[in-house]
This record gives sequence, structure tokens and C-alpha cells, in this order.
Amino acid sequence: MNDFNRSRRSPETGLPTQPDLVGLAKKWLEDQRKHWPDHPDPRLRDQRDDDTVAAEMASQFREGYLRGTGLSFSPARAPSPTTLGVAYLRFSCDNSNPRSLAQQLGNILSRACREEVFIPWETVFADAAISGTTAVRRGYQMAKQAIQDDKRLKVLLVDDIGRASRRDKEVLELGDLIEATDKRLVTASDGYDSEMPNNRFMLGHQGILNEWFVGQLREKVNRGMGDAFLRGRIIQNACLGYRLELVLDGNGKPILNSKGKVEKQRVVDEDQAQLVREIFHMYGDLGKGPEDIAKELNERRATGLRSWGRAQIVKILTRTLYIGVEHYRMTKMVRDRQTERVKVKHNPKEKWLERQVPEMRIIHQDLWDRVQKKRELASAVFKKRKTKPVFRNEVYPKRIFQPRCGHCGNSLWLGKSGKYATFHCTNGVESKRGCQLANYKAANIIEKVLLHLIHRQFAKHGWIELLVEEANHSLLQAAASTPPADTQKLSRQITQKEKACDRVLGMIETCSDGDVAKLQDRHQVLTEDLNALKAELTRLTAGSLAPPPGEISLEEVKAMLADLPTLLREATPEAAPYLAELFQNLEMFCAKEVERGAWRATFRFNATALMVYLSRRRHCPSTPLWEYLKQRDWTIGEVPAGQLIHFSETMAQQRDEARALHAQGVPMTELAKKYGVTWERVKGWLVEGYTEYRRLRYGRKRKEAG
Ligand SMILES: [Zn+2]
Repeated sequence: MNDFNRSRRSPETGLPTQPDLVGLAKKWLEDQRKHWPDHPDPRLRDQRDDDTVAAEMASQFREGYLRGTGLSFSPARAPSPTTLGVAYLRFSCDNSNPRSLAQQLGNILSRACREEVFIPWETVFADAAISGTTAVRRGYQMAKQAIQDDKRLKVLLVDDIGRASRRDKEVLELGDLIEATDKRLVTASDGYDSEMPNNRFMLGHQGILNEWFVGQLREKVNRGMGDAFLRGRIIQNACLGYRLELVLDGNGKPILNSKGKVEKQRVVDEDQAQLVREIFHMYGDLGKGPEDIAKELNERRATGLRSWGRAQIVKILTRTLYIGVEHYRMTKMVRDRQTERVKVKHNPKEKWLERQVPEMRIIHQDLWDRVQKKRELASAVFKKRKTKPVFRNEVYPKRIFQPRCGHCGNSLWLGKSGKYATFHCTNGVESKRGCQLANYKAANIIEKVLLHLIHRQFAKHGWIELLVEEANHSLLQAAASTPPADTQKLSRQITQKEKACDRVLGMIETCSDGDVAKLQDRHQVLTEDLNALKAELTRLTAGSLAPPPGEISLEEVKAMLADLPTLLREATPEAAPYLAELFQNLEMFCAKEVERGAWRATFRFNATALMVYLSRRRHCPSTPLWEYLKQRDWTIGEVPAGQLIHFSETMAQQRDEARALHAQGVPMTELAKKYGVTWERVKGWLVEGYTEYRRLRYGRKRKEAG
């Protein structure tokens, strides 16, 4: 829940603060009165004092920004024949020369006046504290929309090109938009005007300069941060164990630093420090692994969280700050130019910066050393395994079913526990996000139980008859009610799109100048449209196609079901996907109320897929009928929807039988021979608690030896 909220952007992101907006509005009133003494705009002629009017204007701006559509303005407010323009302002924290929004507006308004362009308050757009390296800025998008859509607006004004965007690609795209809509782009400070000759070159040049500027700026910021780190300043947030506190002067007032920001210092937070010590103690002295520790912390909601995980614990165990050594620049952020996504990459050790902060020590050196030694051992085991690569599929064959966790929706993880392949939920093992699927379950038990369920279902008295009857009924119904699909229009559209695609492809081949990228984009868009249309056609024809003629015969179905027992026993690879399709939406829930460690599977039992497979195998005449039914996602109504998974169903039967026989005097050794199991297993069936006793007595010993 918390994570989810954090990832969402606040609707107010990028909105300038109220004082900034009022300042902006005042600047507009003041300058526009100077530049346009006779302009009929009602705001300029308002008799009330400027503070009131400006506050009103600021509120209007705020509403428009939050709505995301800007302010609508009626022609009545702009009756004069002067040209109208749009102003875009941006104030960003990454800027080395932070010209305030009001300063930018002042520059723009005087430049606009020289060009005889009037800028109404409704078309002033601004973003605050957002980097120009991204185009996802609401004010910017709104300004672009306005200049593109509104015929009355002729000119877009910015202070300098960098305000519009710091990415050359985006700058050039803006240039394209201006050209395509026959509008004009003017910058107040760096002298760009899209009506000047060579403007494309200028724009490209500005874009490259901007990229260079961003690079320089990043370098500068990095250098500055590195220096600040080595000088002992706080440049990162406080991690677990510490908090940031205001630095107070003798009178108890916060001290401001040279930049006018409140000075903060990092101090040890005793409550959290205690938790850190406990985590080290659990790992170093109590022999608990990171997963166990995470689980324990989740259970008692340490620091109010339930999202403790292995990775976090490992990070805590390796954080040198806890012994008074701090590192910086261990990672760097890399932005993917195509997707605009930011990734974190590790830096090599020689690039790290280090400083000593002995007053931050939380962990005693002895405990730290014990923990690190244990970590080395653990990773050595891990490495030893890695030198000889083992693929999971070699250790155990691929599994038929891939269940999901019913509690948290995770796909269950197929791993190894001891000798056997097991499924488990990675959230459940650490009790993350309220998941209750805490234990491991052998994959072959899940398979055995589910395959046995298929077997039982098909052996059920009268069920096959019902299946065939319902299937035939559904086929008849489909045949009676299939209007021919109207696909003519769609087919025509597809032909047209295909031609357009070919045309663009031809243009790309003969194209020699720099427009290839644009054409490729166009081709990409066309191909996507085409694929969507084709998918629609497939859907329509599949939905309305009449079924093939004929009827499914019960005898034929019975004959092909003779293959079922072998199929279930051997589970051949090519049959696996059809078996898997029998259990749609397979989900596992914890069923400890029934038995310790038991799971309950829920699913939508769909026999049609298996019928397709069986009829294909025997080349039965009814194959196309089953295929038709499967395509329409048809399934019989009366089916099981859940199954308890504790141990194999067959074993439960054997156990009950054995108990009965033993009561009649059959000796255990004979029973063991009869069912092909060990003598201990039979004793386990007969004597309550014997299996637990054996596990306690011998299970531990075996582990120690191994
Ligand atoms: Zn789960």
C-alpha cells in the first residue's frame, strides 16, 4: 500500500507555490500595464488593489494546472486585433543560474511587446522544480497543446530554449510542431526566432548546446557533492539507525547555512540503533539467516513495516557506516535515452569515496567481525556451487503445472529443498505482504494429486456421458445462431494499411537525407495499427464461425479415453501443456486448519483441452469439433473447483486399506510388500505419531552428518 502510493506522482508535482504564483501574477499586471497602457483586458483595468487581483489570478492558475487543461479564455477578453501568444516558464532545482519565474516572465513580456504580441494571463504556463531533461511536465504539455490547438494563438515564447527542454530530441520535435502548425517560436534571451533563416540549424545547435550544458552541469553537481561528502557534510538521507536533526543556535532557533537552508545534522537514533544491533546479533550469534530475520521483523512489524526482505537485511549487515566508515558514489544512475527510465548501476570499488565518522558507530567491532566472517563463509558456499553450473532442468525435469499463490498472486517459485523439487511463495516464506503460504510443497505431490483428480473425474459414473451430451448441445446451438460476420469493411481497412506500410517502406529505402528516423517511426505506427486490425479480424471470425458439421459420438470418446491412464502415469512432454490447461487459474492457498502444512488448490477445470489432445492422437473424426469448442473456450458446467493437497490421494486410500487389513491380522511386512513401500512407512500409517517420532529421532542426525 505504502509503496504503491509512493510510486504515484502527487497531482501537485510541478505546480509553483502560491507565493510564487502571486509574484508571477503581480509581475504580469505591472509589466503588461507598462507595455499595453490601452489594452482592454479586464484585469489590467481592475480598480481593486493589485494584491487582491493577483491572489485571484494565482488561484485560477492553480485550478487550471490541477485540471491539466489550463484556463479557457473567451474571445471577449481579447477583442483587440493584436497577435496573441503563449508564454512557457520553468524553474528547476538542477539549474545553475536559477532565474525566477517572474524574471523569466518579465523577459518574455518585453520581448513579446517588441514583436507586438499580447500574452493573456490564461496562456502563461509554468512548471516549478522539475528538470528540463524530461518532457513529462504538465505545464510544458499544456503550453504545447495550446499552441497546437488554438487558432488564435500564434507565437510561443520562452526565455531560452533550455526552458522548453534540455533534450535535443525534444527541442527538435517542438520545432517540428511549430513548423507543422504554422506557428512561431521565439526565445527572449538567446535570440532564437523560428522565422529567421537557418532556424533549423540554430535549433539543432541549441539542442546540442543544451545536451552539453546538461552534461557539464551533472559533472559540476557530482564534483560538488563529492567535495561536500569529503568535507563531512550530510548529502544523503539517514538510513536505519540514524535521523536528521535541525541544528539549533544558543536561542533554540534553527541555524541557516550559506544558501539560506536550514542546517541539519545526523545523529544516532537509539531505538533504531537497538534494532540494528539486534539484527547483527541474530545473524552473527543466533545463527539465523537473512530470510529468518526478515520473517521475524515482519511478524512483529519492526519500525511499523511488513516489507522486510532478504536483500534489505543483507544490505544492513554489510553497511560499514555502523562501524563508523561511510562510502559514497557506490552506485550511479544511468538514464536510458530511449525509454527515459533511470537505472541504478554499481560503481567499481576504486571509484568509491570514503570518510571516517567514528561518532556514527553502532556495532561493536567484535560483532561486526563475526558477522562478516559468517557472510564470507555463506558466500563461499554460494560460489562453490557456481563454479559448476547446474541448470534446474537438469536436476529435475520441467513441471507440468505452474501454480500461483492465492494470497499474494505471486507465481510460485520452483526450487529445490533437499533432494526434491518444491514449490514455494517467496513472499510467504518471509511473511511479506500478509502472505500466508509459508511452507514448501514437493512438486511431485502437487502433480500426483492433480493428475489423480483428472483420473477420478473421468472415472466418475455418468460424467463422460454428460460431457458428450453437453458438448453436442453446445455445438447445435452454435450452428443455429451464427450470423455471418461483417468483415468486409475490416478487410478493406487491412488492405489499405498494408499498402500504406509498403509505401513507407519504399520511401525508407529511397530516402537519403535525415528523415529516415521519422519514416521508421511512421512505419512502426502503421505496423502496430495493422496488427491490431488483423487481431480484430481473427477475433470476429473466430467468434462467429459456424461449427464444422457432425456430432461427437460417445463410443469414440470412450475409446480414446482408454489412453488416459497411460497418459496420466507417464505424463509425456507433449501432453504436458494439455494437462496444464485442464487447471486454469491454478492457485494455492494455505489450508493449515485442515492439516499442518496442507494447501488447497483452486482452479477452473477445463476438460476440453485434454479432449482435443486425445482425439488428435487417435485421429478421431470428432477432432475439429473439439477444437472448435476449445477455441470458443467452452467447458462443461459440472466440474470440481478445488482440491486439498496434503499428501498423495492414492496414499490416503492405501493407508485406509492397510489399516483395515492390519485390523484383520495381516502383518506389517506383508502390507509393505503389497504396496511396494518400506516397513517404516506402513508403521507410520498404523501408529499415530510414529512419523513425527522418526523425524525427531533420525531426521536431525542425518542433517548433521550431511
Ligand atoms: Zn504468496
